[in-house]
Amino acid sequence: MTLRVGVVGGGQLARMMIAPAVELGVELRVLAEEEGMAASLAATAVGDYRDADTVLAFARDVDVLTFDHEHVPQDVLASLVEAGVAVHPGPDALRFAQDKLLMRARLEELGMPQPDWAAVTDSEQLQAFIDEHGGRAVVKTPRGGYDGKGVRVVSAGTEAEDWFTTLAEDARGGALLVEELVDFTRELAQQVARRPSGDVRAYPVVETVQRNGVCAEVVAPAPHSGERLQEVAARIGVSIAEGLDVTGMLAVELFETTDERLLVNELAMRPHNSGHWSQDGAVTSQFEQHLRAVLDLPLGDTDPVTEWAVMVNILGGPAEDALDARFAAAMSEHPQAKVHTYGKAPRPGRKVGHVNVIGQDLDDVAYQARAAASFFLD
Ligand code: ADP
Repeated sequence: MTLRVGVVGGGQLARMMIAPAVELGVELRVLAEEEGMAASLAATAVGDYRDADTVLAFARDVDVLTFDHEHVPQDVLASLVEAGVAVHPGPDALRFAQDKLLMRARLEELGMPQPDWAAVTDSEQLQAFIDEHGGRAVVKTPRGGYDGKGVRVVSAGTEAEDWFTTLAEDARGGALLVEELVDFTRELAQQVARRPSGDVRAYPVVETVQRNGVCAEVVAPAPHSGERLQEVAARIGVSIAEGLDVTGMLAVELFETTDERLLVNELAMRPHNSGHWSQDGAVTSQFEQHLRAVLDLPLGDTDPVTEWAVMVNILGGPAEDALDARFAAAMSEHPQAKVHTYGKAPRPGRKVGHVNVIGQDLDDVAYQARAAASFFLD
């Protein structure tokens, strides 16, 4: 009998599960937000993921329900579980990826290394935290942030007044998250896959480079990462996956500090941009692994297939940009680059694809990946 996986969300992460689903002989169904999204190449229904009846109707036809994003509300998730739907990751894990304040509190209980933090409900409390942390701090909206939206470096308590006002109007009430401004040397990401039956596997830790709050490049494995760093990162990833009962793929974004500590920045419970390299650079890609994990199938090997993989994101330009011509030019000039397209209309700054290059010489691999991606720059 063919297993069916339902994915809520029709973005590029759902799209990139399609090819491995075919290889695994799994039927993939997608509940997309609208017509013509990135995952429209799969059997796709369109509906509102915030509506319990819509999601329940979609889930009736699948063996396992999983996600392309973390925004399905807790009450919708609860009704799915109540109706007997196998939801992976489950609501009790997902809430820590949905709310950064809950995440900080839980990671503290688990003894995970993280920046100093506090929940603040007004500008006086924020000012007090800033004063205690060298005059600057990072304020975050606990819910709904992505790609740096909802993150602000501040040096005065009044600089988050607009967010406090919005929170005051939110029926759920609550607080903002404030963190010390970490003096990091670089950002890393650790991915881990975990099955409902408990089996876990860690990928090599990778370096992520952000530009304007958006992931620009990933190098796998992270250069200059000795055995100790790799072990510490993997241990953090596995401890969080187990401690939070995560099923499927987990990405842990990390800061490496000047004194060589690793601090947890944030979590994603789904395939993640930091793992796109694995499509061409690892024995088992994160998308295949996610499907295996949520279906409770044996996990695949996470080893790299060669020394280095570099992923460069392709960000869209003007709406009238002829992306297909650019993709063709990049592929023609750089046959060794694997160009992954998301089928999205371009918009300035929007992720419309990425390039993976693998090989033995890091400088050459990085050069090739950047050169192929540069076909999308003006
Ligand atoms: P998002 O959910 O929008 O991805 P993040 O919490 O990952 O937001 O923050 C986005 C970026 O802001 C991070 O990749 C990092 O570069 C910077 N940042 C976030 N928190 C801190 C911090 N406490 N100290 C220093 N920089 C930070």
